[in-house]
Amino acid sequence: MKKEKVLKKYFGHKKFRDGQSEIIDNILEGNDILGIMPTGAGKSMCYQVPALMMEGITIVISPLISLMIDQVNSLVQSGVAAAYINSSLTLAQQNKVVSNIYKGMYKIIYVAPERLELEGFIRVAQTVKISMITIDEAHCVSQWGHDFRPGYLKIEEFIKKLSYRPIIAAFTATATDDVREDIIRILKLNNPYVKVTGFNRENLYFEVQRPKDKFTALCDILDRHKNQSAIVYCSTRKTVEEVCERLNDNGYDATRYHAGLDDDERQKNQDDFIYDQCEIMVATNAFGMGIDKSNVYLVVHYNMPKNIESYYQEAGRAGRDGGDADCIMLYSARDVNTARYFIENPDENSEISDQMRIKIMEKDFERLKMMTFYCTTSECLRAFILEYFGENPPLNCDNCGNCNTNFKTTDITVDAQKIVSCVYRIRKKGRSCGKTLLAEVLYGSKLDKIKRLDLDTISTYGIMSDMSLKRIRYIIDYLIQEGYLEVDEMNYRTVQPTLKTKEILNGKELSMKLIKEVSYTHKKDTVLTSEEDRLFERLKKLRNRRAVMASVPAYVIFQDSTLREMCRKRPVTDSEFLNISGVGEMKKRKYGKEFMEEIQKFINENE
Ligand code: ADP
Ligand code: MG
Repeated sequence: MKKEKVLKKYFGHKKFRDGQSEIIDNILEGNDILGIMPTGAGKSMCYQVPALMMEGITIVISPLISLMIDQVNSLVQSGVAAAYINSSLTLAQQNKVVSNIYKGMYKIIYVAPERLELEGFIRVAQTVKISMITIDEAHCVSQWGHDFRPGYLKIEEFIKKLSYRPIIAAFTATATDDVREDIIRILKLNNPYVKVTGFNRENLYFEVQRPKDKFTALCDILDRHKNQSAIVYCSTRKTVEEVCERLNDNGYDATRYHAGLDDDERQKNQDDFIYDQCEIMVATNAFGMGIDKSNVYLVVHYNMPKNIESYYQEAGRAGRDGGDADCIMLYSARDVNTARYFIENPDENSEISDQMRIKIMEKDFERLKMMTFYCTTSECLRAFILEYFGENPPLNCDNCGNCNTNFKTTDITVDAQKIVSCVYRIRKKGRSCGKTLLAEVLYGSKLDKIKRLDLDTISTYGIMSDMSLKRIRYIIDYLIQEGYLEVDEMNYRTVQPTLKTKEILNGKELSMKLIKEVSYTHKKDTVLTSEEDRLFERLKKLRNRRAVMASVPAYVIFQDSTLREMCRKRPVTDSEFLNISGVGEMKKRKYGKEFMEEIQKFINENE
């Protein structure tokens, strides 16, 4: 069967997405692969399609149990013989799977890396034919990556124990060069075909807000996303607890997830969210890598994460099924301190040397700086992210908060001079201060701290009192971003002059985009007409019944985007039904009749 046919027959998709086709061809030719594609781009398809076309079994190494369960559920629903072996199964269940492997009953097996060290599993792998070993989330092999997993270092040893070398295909969403090199080196990929696809996710809308009151801002955002699954990321467990409680107190349907909860509760809360029993998940970054829930249409960051890699991965959990989704950051300068704390106090990891630790920390501070710039830029947010990942995007995307904001280019030459001379004055006094305090001095705030440091006696104290504090901070952020000033991370985050600072005092003309007003005008494909919406609700009910019967999340039966297409196109014949994106042969056979009947009923009623 040709790969296009496999794609439609099992997965119901009509076309390959960017990168998928080339990767699959290369696998089928026997080449090793390194696929670097953003979250939600469709990496699974790159190995699942060829796995079905090759003789033997594909072993997929995956870091998380929840991820394996989700993938295997989806595969089984699509009619693919797949299974996982991990600690969520009883010993008897594990043995059953192993004996089925010997019988050649599966095409795809998911395991955690630790499994590869177990005698029993090594014996199976040595006996049966293995066509390919896929390493999902391959950045876990690198200490530079943000999810280093020592178990991943053992993969190469396992492969060496096999009597022949299968194809090795590694996939990740992490694009940095050092991680890429680590993956090739540590997994010993053999002259791999490397595919880096564009990182752009067109269906995601990005926005940064700097609200006075984050909680109110969050409620406003949630109100615009009624009846949609949303994730709210917070940087600490404490914030998760607070936000979740306040949301519930205010009548929102929220649950929580962080590493401080016991296993049972975490599992339950996660399931409630995945199975659409609960709409809003408030979580730390512990929630996510395993979450392939496809109908999340909003990801809010209540706090800024510590780098753009994490941000894009977390935000990228929105809109996986291709539907339009919003990724909104609620930034405050305090978030920078929290992020800093996490960088300075990393999890103990005995496999990392002191020297390495210092190098990692320096790099982390550099990444934090870029993350902060993202939050304060008035340029296109999408362009900022894509440039960070080494791409050359257009200047404007017309689908982010900044592109949609009515900015006015404003001359800031004089303001910049005031700010810079204030920095010099403060230094002359033998003091130094961070961004926030600097703004307060310029504004002329009557803070104790300013008095104590004797900063209310310098000539630039209060020199910008005619401007709002917020605006002063924006201009300081801009000067830092453009390199006219810098934040000394190693020295209490104080603002310091740079080699470029003199240019400002020499009269260099500067202008920046400052906000006039914000408009929220984004049109979405997730919006249905009210008639379509009524059908959507009915199909959802049908889907839920089926999901409960099969004990899988609803989106494993049909994704929301698939249901929406049904509501728009209203298929009532087999071929029309098969023509809907996300409907493969297995699903047509299992659910087609029922869904088409419901659609037909709806059509009759509405005539
Ligand atoms: P990731 O790259 O993050 O691992 P996944 O493999 O989980 O992404 O895929 C994300 C979503 O994209 C899934 O819901 C999947 O069904 C969908 N998808 C993948 N390939 C295609 C395709 N060729 N056409 C349409 N949808 C696709
Ligand atoms: Mg994936």
